[in-house]
Amino acid sequence: MTKDYEIIVVGAGPAGLSAGIYIARQRVSCLVISKDLGGQLNLIPRLENYPGTIMSSGPLLARTLENQYLTFKGEMIYDTVERIDESENGLTIKTNRSEYTCKSLVLAPGKVPNNLGIANENVFANKGVHYCTKCDAPFYQDRVTATVGVGGYLLESGILLSRMASKVYLIYRGGALGGDKEIISSIEKKENVELIPNTMIKEIHGNNTLQKIVIKDNQGLEKTLNVDGLFIEMGSKINLDFVKHLVKVNSKGEIEVTEGGKTAHPAIFAAGDATNILYKQIVAACGDGAAAGLSAFNYIEKMKGKPGIRADWKKTIGDTVFHY
Ligand SMILES: Cc1cc2nc3c(=O)[nH]c(=O)nc-3n(C[C@H](O)[C@H](O)[C@H](O)COP(=O)(O)OP(=O)(O)OC[C@H]3O[C@@H](n4cnc5c(N)ncnc54)[C@H](O)[C@@H]3O)c2cc1C
Repeated sequence: MTKDYEIIVVGAGPAGLSAGIYIARQRVSCLVISKDLGGQLNLIPRLENYPGTIMSSGPLLARTLENQYLTFKGEMIYDTVERIDESENGLTIKTNRSEYTCKSLVLAPGKVPNNLGIANENVFANKGVHYCTKCDAPFYQDRVTATVGVGGYLLESGILLSRMASKVYLIYRGGALGGDKEIISSIEKKENVELIPNTMIKEIHGNNTLQKIVIKDNQGLEKTLNVDGLFIEMGSKINLDFVKHLVKVNSKGEIEVTEGGKTAHPAIFAAGDATNILYKQIVAACGDGAAAGLSAFNYIEKMKGKPGIRADWKKTIGDTVFHY
């Protein structure tokens, strides 16, 4: 039997759970459907930049957000959303195991970083191998690092690491770096950055943590580099196959949103890494998730002829306009 909710949230990463907290707290029926708890938070054993916590971890934050959501009587189901369609009374959500309907939807399916595809990569994940330079470069103050990746991601990684690490090996397959000319010229001037073109990473080795990488150039010559950290910046995958016929998706494969997480569909809101926001970080995902949740709540309240929680209340007394 199809179960009906006022609002459904897709994804239980920081964006989806924050949306859920804000929706459930308004005492409307809310279901979060997610493949897993936490999303990319599960890749963060050491979390230093989430405001309000001195030192935390991604999985701990995920459990805290989930508990907070459940406290407000929100419902949660672990399943994969396969298709969303418009229906007579709103939207129909087909999952791997069931079917649901709702009046409004918050999309927060996030993204998954691409890996390099070499042996041992998973073994050393977060033990020297990293997939988010802007998140993890600060752990490599005065240490030796290598970075490998594509286009602008690699350039950004090189710049960020050069500000922290004592040495940065910047490894790329082509003969020349691609991307912004000014950034390339700035990287070329850095004394602690060594450019290694026409090269790929063949092996990674270590004991408990990463110790060395073996690189191979396009002539077949191999070399071992001793490194403390390897940053892999191969972009990420956003999978919106289940909903891309209803919202507008940009050339990077992200859902286009405007203020309050509005999408091209009036009943669908979105937040987090799957959207066109500038900085893909937890605090931004939480803030935008809360906003998208409130927008979805306002949408259903408006359908019922109620005012909802407005962001733009104002009162005029004499010549003065008060906004609150
Ligand atoms: C290695 C790494 C380290 C990072 N370190 C930091 C850091 O230190 N500080 C920081 O601020 N940020 C960090 N980030 C970035 C941060 O993790 C993301 O910005 C944040 O998790 C985005 O949240 P989200 O909710 O949008 O997406 P995600 O965290 O990706 O969560 C998306 C959720 O949606 C679910 N989902 C996807 N598709 C479906 C579907 N079809 N059906 C059901 N469920 C679905 C997923 O299973 C997942 O649970 C890091 C990222 C990585 C990869």
